[in-house]
Amino acid sequence: MEEKLQELFYECKNELKNIGIDLNHKLVGEITINIAKRNCQRYGCCKQEIPDESTKYIEKVGKKCYIRYAIFKKHNIEVSRWVMNLNTDIIKNTIMHEIIHCLPNCNNHGDEFKKYANYINYKLNYNISRLGDKKQDLKQSNIEIKKEHFNYKIQCSKCDYFFYRKRLNCNFTKKYRCGKCGGKFIILNGLFEL
Ligand SMILES: [Zn+2]
Ligand SMILES: [Zn+2]
Repeated sequence: MEEKLQELFYECKNELKNIGIDLNHKLVGEITINIAKRNCQRYGCCKQEIPDESTKYIEKVGKKCYIRYAIFKKHNIEVSRWVMNLNTDIIKNTIMHEIIHCLPNCNNHGDEFKKYANYINYKLNYNISRLGDKKQDLKQSNIEIKKEHFNYKIQCSKCDYFFYRKRLNCNFTKKYRCGKCGGKFIILNGLFEL
């Protein structure tokens, strides 16, 4: 399985080179790719390391400020095991998606990410999107994955932002505001299966 992943990664890199995106050291630094150790529901992820300090900038989201970097010099892509059981085109879509995250200004799903995704979709007939059709893909892969259970859903009262937690500090709503809009949080109790 590991070998198949390395082969497909190599194919993706070559395809990109053919359309003018050469993943050389100068452009992206170093990229490694592995099968994720944790068996979770996401397709894959890209862990960024060694930020280029000269590309540091501050992003203001609502009242909060975040330190961001446009460029990282080391990236470790992880692809989930259940994805490796799917059609090659879905695996390669996942790899391509994570490769884009390694490119400058692409450590999110913003405009620059979309620009590359659209270009690759158009030129190489991929179907890279922010998210795949996870429900259908999970069904197709017969690898058992661990479902995660959460006891709390935290929902912003002003915008559509929400997330789940297993445990929650009792002062949470007093201490924290929505990072997107500064709105107050509402807490829903229950058992949320993701
Ligand atoms: Zn992504
Ligand atoms: Zn909000």
